[in-house]
Amino acid sequence: MKLYGKDTLKRHLDEIAAKGRLPHAIMFSGHSGSGRKTLARYTAQLFLCPERACGNCAVCRSIENDAHPDVIFVKRQCGGKYLMDPLSDVLRDVVILPISGEMKIYVFEECDTMLPRHLNALLKLIEEPAPHLRFIFTCENTAIIPETIMSRVTEFEVPDTPVDECERCLLDSGMDSAKARSLAEMFSGNIGKCGGLDGSEGELIGAARTVAAAIGARDFVTAGGSLAKHQSNRAEFGAIMDYLVNLFRDAMALKFGCEAEYFGKKESRKIADNFTEAEILNMLDAAFEIQRNEIYNLNLGLTGAYFISKVVDSV
Ligand SMILES: [Zn+2]
Repeated sequence: MKLYGKDTLKRHLDEIAAKGRLPHAIMFSGHSGSGRKTLARYTAQLFLCPERACGNCAVCRSIENDAHPDVIFVKRQCGGKYLMDPLSDVLRDVVILPISGEMKIYVFEECDTMLPRHLNALLKLIEEPAPHLRFIFTCENTAIIPETIMSRVTEFEVPDTPVDECERCLLDSGMDSAKARSLAEMFSGNIGKCGGLDGSEGELIGAARTVAAAIGARDFVTAGGSLAKHQSNRAEFGAIMDYLVNLFRDAMALKFGCEAEYFGKKESRKIADNFTEAEILNMLDAAFEIQRNEIYNLNLGLTGAYFISKVVDSV
């Protein structure tokens, strides 16, 4: 399994696994799309493959395809929320021995979205695990996870993927080179975000840049119109908002004489030149608010209009 841009962490995990000291409860913390789920699969291979994640055997292949019966990704509701029922199923299921190997591995993705009562239900399991149980958690923000849980897991921070490594991943997946570079830059190396867009990337890159260029030129009618064209597709709409957040961050960095970290140097420079610090900060706030509001549950047409109105209000 290829882990793009994760060499140091992979080496670290390999070394621990070679000594037989992989912890029974692991937390992969990092940004959404940074490769935490891939690392969970890789760690499952380290646990279960006789050669410790050789990548070629039947065990490794079935884990990579999410088909191994003893590697269980705990179900979440549409929108990523955990419900008590699947967790109760887990609590009943843990006593059943593994089907094909020596261990059963439960993966809880985005566990910072779990309610405290959900996490508390797991506490005992993690605290006194049966010999055949392993737990892998992923999260974005460890600060909101109860200390009772954090003190019982071993945390590994998952670094963001460098743009070049992300580009290599997209090229390896068969994407053409111009699109791979644009996407990798657009999402600052976030492979997850590059991959979740249904093949409409070319159009999306154009749309995000049009919105950014229009905002840069204070042409909010064009910005709103461009955003409205993507209001029927949540992944695309979310990707454009992600792009804008990065762009406003870059514009702030440029204002303070720092390097622009993300893609869209021309667009972020234009925003830095044409807006005050306070205005950029307000626009960044508006974009953050849209991201935070879980756009998956909102009417995107209204959300887009709301965003533009906030931007107009703030400048
Ligand atoms: Zn293997």
